[in-house]
Amino acid sequence: MDCIFCKIVHDEIPSDIVYQDDDFFAFRDINPQAPVHVLIITKKHIPSVNDLADKDSGLMGKMILVAQKIAAKEKVSVSGYRLAINTGPDGTQIVPHIHLHLLGGHRLIDQLG
Ligand code: AMP
Repeated sequence: MDCIFCKIVHDEIPSDIVYQDDDFFAFRDINPQAPVHVLIITKKHIPSVNDLADKDSGLMGKMILVAQKIAAKEKVSVSGYRLAINTGPDGTQIVPHIHLHLLGGHRLIDQLG
């Protein structure tokens, strides 16, 4: 599988690991856009939100709860943070393996697009 994030999950590419469990792997973004910038990825290779099926609803719900735990660990729960999943070209998705950006640690710009 020629997927950079699958390689990170399998420790073929090093990463600054923040969290992992049976379903998820989280690590610091190599090009952080905020003081806290963590990527939460599914261990299973799912290319994008467009590829999610009904059976993935529980998994994606858990992904938000993982983000909540990491936000607490990174001490941004109270100050706040943004969760974003980029999808496709207009969504500026670069890596075709579903990932949730957790951004925080300073006041984010008010603009979403
Ligand atoms: P996206 O534009 O949503 O596909 O975001 C992909 C993110 O992955 C970008 O923020 C990149 O900086 C990040 N990224 C790419 N390669 C790595 C890597 N090897 N380790 C950590 N983050 C990475």
